[in-house]
Amino acid sequence: MEDFQADICPVCGHAGLDYEIRDVQEDVLVYPWTCPQCKSKGDEEYTISFNTHVIHSRGRENNENET
Ligand SMILES: [Zn+2]
Repeated sequence: MEDFQADICPVCGHAGLDYEIRDVQEDVLVYPWTCPQCKSKGDEEYTISFNTHVIHSRGRENNENET
């Protein structure tokens, strides 16, 4: 397995790929890229993992101990 890096063309090593963002597929985010130097095309795939919740407003809590 080669040592691929984000934003580096895996074919010619050019840094700075042109992206068009594709939508999320399950837990994978796909960034299609085109290398402006050698014209290769491919996808970068990112595995998405849950980080945290950011709560903007709290609704009513369903707590039976409350009186
Ligand atoms: Zn390239």
